[in-house]
Amino acid sequence: MEVNQERIVEQFLELVKINSPSRNERELADYLKRKLGTLSVTVEEDNAGDKFDGNTGNLIGRYPGDDSLPTIFLAAHMDIVRSAEGIKPVVEEGIIKTDGTTILGGDDKAGITAVLETLKVLQKSEINHGNIEIIFTSGEEIGLFGSMYLDREELEAEVGFVLDSGGPIDKIIVSAPAEQDFDIEIKGRAAHAGVEPEKGISAIEVGCDIITELRLGRIDEETTANIGVIEGGEATNIVADRLTIKGEARSIDEDKLTELVNEIKGVCQQKEEEWQAEVNVEFKKAYSGFNLTEEDEVVKMAMQAVKEIGLTPKLRPRGGGSDANIFNDKGIPTVNLGVGVKNDHTTEEKVAIEDLVNCARLVLAIVSNVRK
Ligand SMILES: [Zn+2]
Repeated sequence: MEVNQERIVEQFLELVKINSPSRNERELADYLKRKLGTLSVTVEEDNAGDKFDGNTGNLIGRYPGDDSLPTIFLAAHMDIVRSAEGIKPVVEEGIIKTDGTTILGGDDKAGITAVLETLKVLQKSEINHGNIEIIFTSGEEIGLFGSMYLDREELEAEVGFVLDSGGPIDKIIVSAPAEQDFDIEIKGRAAHAGVEPEKGISAIEVGCDIITELRLGRIDEETTANIGVIEGGEATNIVADRLTIKGEARSIDEDKLTELVNEIKGVCQQKEEEWQAEVNVEFKKAYSGFNLTEEDEVVKMAMQAVKEIGLTPKLRPRGGGSDANIFNDKGIPTVNLGVGVKNDHTTEEKVAIEDLVNCARLVLAIVSNVRK
């Protein structure tokens, strides 16, 4: 049994036309519940959405198979990075894109399409497969919230496949960094900038001094840091008494990340003393990293499937987080697979029909290969 290109394209176009911005995935979730119902999948929705002010939880579907085989999960996220009301998908020379006024939302509706197509093929085939859990998460783009609040106890899967990596289908994401976000709050002392500036402590100068001391950008192959937001000051004639600096640090190696976090704290403390200002820095873990290798069963399964569809598997790290970070953290070894989408998060977003088809073939191969 093979996947059906026409059906895939039709399904993908139907999905992208449903607007599903983060926290408002309701319409898409209802559509998917109905769709999964017609594909013999029992679906539940959890209450994860309540925990991040969204109107939609995660959909957890169960497609029964041979109980003696291991259970796997297939996951994709329902939300799109920003609203795409009235989206007009354009199909041109084998490529699906938009009219340039909205994003396409192929991230991650390409992933959802591959899962649905696999189920459609399984319906009509004799392929022997294990139990399959289908997870469609909400709130992924705003901080991996859906997967984060998904109850681990709901899942039986021994390994997982997230379908949410931009770029080619032969790419298997086997590692991704952990991320810590930080807020530095600086309180100096206000003073008239022209009359008695010496009585003030400029929070802006303190902040600049801190930033100059920090290691930023690409620190090494596995580690990055960035200052993304600076806010403070009122007027040119006032020595600024407040400044907020927001940044993040990431590393695939958790020890390096801890070291970097401590270094940032150290610089803040040192500058607080030097300037006699008040400097508070707060860190918040965004997510954990993961690091799988060719020795891991889930990686072997993904590599085998990539080969079976005629491609050469490429194991790659990813600079950002995805639901795969969260599932690995919950103890289910999970890779993130390529769905073929290019320029995601922009109005130039596009996907080749060939990649949509290959992605579905890949998922079907994974499901068909589950062995004891
Ligand atoms: Zn995505």
